[in-house]
Amino acid sequence: MEDQEEKIKVCVIGAGAAGLCAVRHLAGNTIFEVTAYEQTNDIGGTWVYNEQVGLDENGLPIHSSMYQNLRTNLPAKIMNFPDYITMEGRQPSCVSHQEVLNYLKDYAQHFDAQQHIRFNTKVEDVRFISSDSRNRDKWSVQVKKLKTNETELRYFDAIMVCNGHYFDPYIPTITGIKSFPGLILHSHAYRKPDDYSGKKVLVLGAGSSGIDIGIDLSNKAACVYLSHNNDRLTSTLPLNMIQVAGVESIHETTFHLKDGTTVNAIDVFLLCTGYKYNFPFLDKNCGIQVDSNYVTPLYKHFINIEHPSMCIVGIPTVVLPFPMFQMQVQFFLAVLQNRATLPTKLVMLENATLKAPKKRHAHKLMNHQWDYNNSLAIAGGFDRLPAFYQLGYKAWSVQRSMNLLRYKDSKFVVSEDGQSVELVI
Ligand SMILES: Cc1cc2nc3c(=O)[nH]c(=O)nc-3n(C[C@H](O)[C@H](O)[C@H](O)COP(=O)(O)OP(=O)(O)OC[C@H]3O[C@@H](n4cnc5c(N)ncnc54)[C@H](O)[C@@H]3O)c2cc1C
Repeated sequence: MEDQEEKIKVCVIGAGAAGLCAVRHLAGNTIFEVTAYEQTNDIGGTWVYNEQVGLDENGLPIHSSMYQNLRTNLPAKIMNFPDYITMEGRQPSCVSHQEVLNYLKDYAQHFDAQQHIRFNTKVEDVRFISSDSRNRDKWSVQVKKLKTNETELRYFDAIMVCNGHYFDPYIPTITGIKSFPGLILHSHAYRKPDDYSGKKVLVLGAGSSGIDIGIDLSNKAACVYLSHNNDRLTSTLPLNMIQVAGVESIHETTFHLKDGTTVNAIDVFLLCTGYKYNFPFLDKNCGIQVDSNYVTPLYKHFINIEHPSMCIVGIPTVVLPFPMFQMQVQFFLAVLQNRATLPTKLVMLENATLKAPKKRHAHKLMNHQWDYNNSLAIAGGFDRLPAFYQLGYKAWSVQRSMNLLRYKDSKFVVSEDGQSVELVI
């Protein structure tokens, strides 16, 4: 796709961690001309804490899911982008959301990313236009300037979708939910425990948010039921936090659980049931579909197989997000520059077939993330992640499952040769 005379014009949608990473790498290479659109007035995406819930000053649904007391659930050291390791997070290893936002702002400033971002500008429509004889694609992007309501149409050679994946709540269907007279909210709208002082709260879901918010709530709520269908957590929990089975049905303030037991007199029902992938601005002709959170057809979970000049950064879950963003971004740029070649469409489609037992787990990488990142680095001809990321992640997984109440306070120790990591409480 490289052209001797013309630059490759790339549109980045969103200026959260993924979009910033895309801008940083595109702007660092003179072959590219980058324009990023961000619908809010700031960089940082979900790390921009907003006490408000509902709509923002532009009338858009609040994007961020941050809550007041959130501290990272990963050691800060292994959250760093590998080309900008400034979050040390020695002790405590997990840091506040403000620190992460500051890190992203420093990163943007260091790489002079801000100048390429158009703020208060929402991408409304993205369409594939054509592919020319040299296989160079054309895309149209319609944006709306939120301060003036003006719309603008621009054309690009490539699209990097970085709109985040934690803004559209997934709400399961639960029999009898309408009869519940108390407050029902999703973790997306949870902000601080003070709002639930003395209440009996049932938290549904024991993923990272359910556990973390449950513990946060337990400081103020009278009682927190952590309702889930996973294996029982073995770590010590706060005395007023009780694990119970998943919810089968609701009758007024009584919750009937999957194991036949009930819990009564619930005041607040807090759904920590995750989010839906959503790309509302992608026209049908982009070729992207989402079915039960399985996004297709994507090569390596991020390159649009129908039109490989489009990628969606950050879809894999249970990973180290920032380092993986960098791997995906570098690989995509290598493809755009013809430094890396994609396999045939048939091979890419085979790569995109469902490998997990359920569609909603299609993009869960966990321990496969290291091979995944390495495969991108090898094919793209750039550096792999330093060893401390994988070692730190492994040490963290053990520490977290054993001690949910204190793992965030541990000390992150990397050996002198960089070949071992310990998390010490
Ligand atoms: C509660 C919570 C806790 C988390 N804790 C951790 C943690 O401890 N460690 C960790 O590594 N990760 C954590 N994560 C994961 C986190 O989502 C990623 O680390 C990362 O910040 C995601 O970046 P992103 O750029 O993909 O998305 P986002 O941060 O969501 O950014 C997307 C951006 O795109 C913009 N946008 C969306 N649509 C449009 C549009 N149409 N036009 C223009 N702009 C648009 C949004 O306004 C936003 O700024 C957490 C996530 C949540 C929700």
